[in-house]
Amino acid sequence: MLERWLRQICPDWVARRLADVTPDWLRAHGIRAVLLDLDNTLVAWHEMSPPPEVREWLAALAAARMRTCLTSNTHRPQRLAAIAAALELPFEPGCAKPHPAGLRRALQRIGTAPAESALVGDQLFTDVLGGNWCGVTTVLVTPLSHREFVGTRWISRPAERLVLRALARRGWLWPVVPSENG
Ligand SMILES: [Mg+2]
Repeated sequence: MLERWLRQICPDWVARRLADVTPDWLRAHGIRAVLLDLDNTLVAWHEMSPPPEVREWLAALAAARMRTCLTSNTHRPQRLAAIAAALELPFEPGCAKPHPAGLRRALQRIGTAPAESALVGDQLFTDVLGGNWCGVTTVLVTPLSHREFVGTRWISRPAERLVLRALARRGWLWPVVPSENG
């Protein structure tokens, strides 16, 4: 039972930073669409715009004609809409990850199938679990900042550390996306 659950929460890949998840790497893994988590993946918590390196990464995806969609659990839908408009990205409101329904709607919105899609996010219990349930390739990235929602900081993150340790103990070492700059 525990083992089965741990399998479901195990990311397919881990990336040290978004810049490592290049369009070429994605294409080489059969991926042509990326569902994007917002907070602490693209923008720091409570911020309205991504740091320059994230902007560059988004521009590289767009230039490679990679389809993208913002999928956030935020309870501030107007902020999500404003960020999506500023970045000229489609978004799926009311995602409620890990529930897969919102992620499936996001895939439909951009016209892609799970097998050719990835989800990139910074949290195990929302992004990775939801992405795995939905059948997309899951990529866990390092959070942009340590500032986050109090429930995330004091409940989700300590629980994540326990799960990551349990995964490591079992030797289920997921591959790390290679870094172009070493
Ligand atoms: Mg996040």
